[in-house]
Amino acid sequence: MNHLTITRFPPSPSGYLHLGGARTALFNWLYARHCGGRFVLRIEDTDVSRSTRASVEAIFEALEWLGIDWDEGPYFQSRRFEIYRDYINRLLESGMAYYCTCTAERLEKMRDAAMKAGGKPKYDGTCREKGLGPTEGAVVRFKAPLAGSTIVGDCIRGNIAFDNAELDDFIIQRSDGSPTYNLAVVVDDITMNINTIIRGDDHLNNTPKQIQLYEALGCAVPVFGHVPMVLGHDKTRLSKRHGAMSVTAYRDMGYHPDAMVNYLVRLGWSYGDQEFFTRQELIEKFNLEHIGRSAGIFNREKLLALNAEHIRAASEEELARRLLPFLSARGIEAKPDAYLQAVVATLKNRSKTFVEMAEAADFYFADAVAYDEKAARKFLKPGILAPLKEITAKLESASVLDQETMEPLFQEVMDKHGLKLGKIAQPMRVALTGKTVSPGIFEMIAVLGKEKVGRRLTDAIQYIEGRALNGEGDAAGKNLS
Ligand code: GLU
Repeated sequence: MNHLTITRFPPSPSGYLHLGGARTALFNWLYARHCGGRFVLRIEDTDVSRSTRASVEAIFEALEWLGIDWDEGPYFQSRRFEIYRDYINRLLESGMAYYCTCTAERLEKMRDAAMKAGGKPKYDGTCREKGLGPTEGAVVRFKAPLAGSTIVGDCIRGNIAFDNAELDDFIIQRSDGSPTYNLAVVVDDITMNINTIIRGDDHLNNTPKQIQLYEALGCAVPVFGHVPMVLGHDKTRLSKRHGAMSVTAYRDMGYHPDAMVNYLVRLGWSYGDQEFFTRQELIEKFNLEHIGRSAGIFNREKLLALNAEHIRAASEEELARRLLPFLSARGIEAKPDAYLQAVVATLKNRSKTFVEMAEAADFYFADAVAYDEKAARKFLKPGILAPLKEITAKLESASVLDQETMEPLFQEVMDKHGLKLGKIAQPMRVALTGKTVSPGIFEMIAVLGKEKVGRRLTDAIQYIEGRALNGEGDAAGKNLS
């Protein structure tokens, strides 16, 4: 007996990997990892007109970013036609399949008539008992049971019965010799020893047909679970207009893959009311029992909030590494060294995405600070010149720039001038970063280091002196010393 759990992800490469597909991949991958089983990747590229190499590459890229690794594959259906043919022959030989030469026109008429009579447009079985051999243009149909019902024992939704009279002798091999989806999937799942299949409920109608094939081939039916679709906020199927793009678009927008994984899994599975999960926790806790029966509603704000949490939880070393391409996109070629890690430490609690973090990190790498005009006008005023000069001198002669050294040094200057921290912090902020929003003053100074701080403060002093020379005083002149 084979007790190893073997799951699979079989995308059709006709576009990028979207969020729903990624979630299906995650469920199967997590379940395999949870059970210590195996996860198989299979590319379902039998539809040559819709499958592209670029899409295959995009799927690999997305899986890699999400950290979904596979133990077997990737298999390509397009390279397995001989195996499908072999199984089709087995079904023909055992009388479970037959050739059909009904023309398209005949089938069309038959469908029209059925529709008019209010019935389902199913194949009427004309060729079922004819014992036809292979001829040019013939298709192969499965000889489906006519009576009774086929039960899908769904591990998420419970038993679902399909009336066999409603199902028809579906085609398993097209006239060009290619296998149809239902045949290829079943043959693959059998030959790859797949025993657990979690997929979108858009496939539910295929499942009874697939079960019939398993039975006709004398093979064990795997465990099936059909997951409800991911919907947009208006409860319609998730699409571009809901901001649903490729998984890798979220990578490019600065999301942490663990946040994406956490969010997508929680979108259809729960563990009490816990929202935040590390990857390891998901592997430990994921099970099929807690997959929800109702559709998950995609909520971008929630994803963003979770992303901020995952960024906060990550180590500086990791964040530095992940930030590099975002810095690079801003023309900053950094290394994941101690400096960048220290930079990241000051930003990780204030950045929701890596894009935000890179933007906020700009000033750490600039040769000279570019002032936000309004901020400079408001805060770099002659009134602050004396305290700024004193702080600059004190920092210059300080032995180390840590919080304990800096605090009393600032305090002294503030006391002398009767200033509150806010009065000195904002001008310092503008002097050091060009902006009015930044990490804490002491943290920043410690990271920037003496040389950069000294240069920036001197620049700010010069800027203020320039203003004073131009006759630009403080708004009311009251702070002029
Ligand atoms: N290739 C199918 C799809 O991308 C998946 C089939 C399956 O899970 O059985 O929807």
